[in-house]
Amino acid sequence: MTKILELKNVDSFYGNIQALYDINLHIDQGEIITLIGANGAGKSTTLMTVCGVVQARNGQVMYDGEEITKEAPNKIVAQGICQVPEGRLIFPELTVQENLDMGAFMRNDKEGIKRDMEYSFDLFPILAERRKQQGGTLSGGEQQMLAIARALMAKPRLLLLDEPSMGLAPLIVKQIFDIIKKVNAEHNTTIFLVEQNANLALKIAHRGYVMENGRIVLTDTCDKLLADEQVKKAYLGL
Ligand code: ATP
Repeated sequence: MTKILELKNVDSFYGNIQALYDINLHIDQGEIITLIGANGAGKSTTLMTVCGVVQARNGQVMYDGEEITKEAPNKIVAQGICQVPEGRLIFPELTVQENLDMGAFMRNDKEGIKRDMEYSFDLFPILAERRKQQGGTLSGGEQQMLAIARALMAKPRLLLLDEPSMGLAPLIVKQIFDIIKKVNAEHNTTIFLVEQNANLALKIAHRGYVMENGRIVLTDTCDKLLADEQVKKAYLGL
């Protein structure tokens, strides 16, 4: 298996406050991995450290075997890492179609862009129906779909998803998670899924990491984590 991403002994800080302690994790090409943990555990900080918004103070972030620890976010995005941040952050004034166009701003293969736009509309038919509507008028679930579709327009090799289930009804979450699985299977897009909804995340991912207070405390296949007594009690409400 080829590692697409690896964090080695990573410490990250906000000013003097340490948020991540000695993080070691990796994702193989084509995998879905999930990072679960409570509020404030450091999940978002981990994603931001991958895409360079927060720079690791110690340790290394490796992408495709090359070190990207100190690279600027725009350089990292250009190499095929794309993040869908928590809270979605679509452009509310732009239409659905314009939002998707923005996702492809670094590309100039017109035919490919058109094909991927159609693929996005196949994945999320509701977005096709609403293609002329302003993003800000969409429901929360539709905005989440748009945020994912926009990220896919960049043709990422590694897609970082920060709590896609947040604030959404269970039925919509299920729909979105099914699509995440489909994108992974059909496009071989590697997915790094951060979630508080451990139950769902562990059902679609291949492997998982559990984070507490800025540290990885457990890692295993999702089947094993779902059966783990500590995980059941702390994260699955069982
Ligand atoms: P959530 O589910 O609430 O997003 P999380 O697991 O993603 O939680 P982080 O957002 O990564 O956790 O936060 C990790 C720690 O870093 C927390 O203690 C948080 O208060 C702190 N933190 C996050 N962002 C900042 C910031 N901009 N400045 C200072 N401290 C921050």
